Amino acid sequence: MKYFTIFGNPVAHSISPRMQNLAFEGLEYNGIYTRYLLENGDKLKETFLNLKLSGANVTVPHKESAYRACDEVEGIAKDIKAVNTLVLKDKKIVGYNTDAPGFITSIKDFFPLKSALILGAGGTAKALSWALRKEGVNVDVLNRSENRLEYFKQNGFEAYSWDNLPKKEYELIVNTTSAGLSDDSLPLDENVLKMLISNAKYAYDVIYHKITPFIHICKENGLKCKDGKDMLLYQGVYAFKHFSENKFNEDEIVKYMKEVFRL
Ligand code: NDP
Repeated sequence: MKYFTIFGNPVAHSISPRMQNLAFEGLEYNGIYTRYLLENGDKLKETFLNLKLSGANVTVPHKESAYRACDEVEGIAKDIKAVNTLVLKDKKIVGYNTDAPGFITSIKDFFPLKSALILGAGGTAKALSWALRKEGVNVDVLNRSENRLEYFKQNGFEAYSWDNLPKKEYELIVNTTSAGLSDDSLPLDENVLKMLISNAKYAYDVIYHKITPFIHICKENGLKCKDGKDMLLYQGVYAFKHFSENKFNEDEIVKYMKEVFRL
């Protein structure tokens, strides 16, 4: 039996254990996946090894600590410098970022795509900006405050705060802020948003359990919209592929995992 977990704080709300266990059971993979409330990100490696895990997922606020805890990091996680999937390989902890490819798969209907504006400048914005750039999309970032923009500027993204957004047009607008998560707020001033919408084709919100005010207003104005459900699903699918050494077909994993949204 192989053991897996998700590390986070908080972690009680995470549906990853249900999602992963549905695939383990459906595909008769001999593993079990639990959740672990980790308070101190510096203890991640020690805890992973003490629990004798074969793999793990990592959620807020430990993705950057997870990056530092890895013996090796592969793929786009090297650019993002944040890891959400850990796998034990030859006694080494190898890290991946599956949020980025999960997001790209979830917006495949939006391609070909030339330009995108990401709202927010937190961990998710970092993953999604690199993911879009790797697909050849021109990405700018807009955040409420100035202080988180430095990372993006240093990495060659155009990054603006609410006070200095120039008049530009974007095909896709992505909300990665938590505005609308537990309240009815928009991620930016309504008039500015309406101006952006009038030149856009697509809108995406990483929030997945409700229609946010952002998606509501984008829909009302005729944009093609998606929420973060498929991103959540596919980050899990790609994590499972790493956990199971790519033994299973993607469509089969999806078939079992997506049952989580019916429960
Ligand atoms: P962070 O805390 O790292 O960043 C939050 C960002 O949102 C900051 O830039 C912050 O701006 C901005 N923000 C917060 N509240 C508001 C507001 N009311 N108005 C405008 N801007 C605001 O969060 P994460 O990047 O880790 O996560 C963001 C969201 O993504 C969460 O809702 C999370 O649930 C979701 N998520 C979804 C996933 C999926 O699979 N679908 C995967 C991962 C995350 P400032 O710098 O000014 O404070």
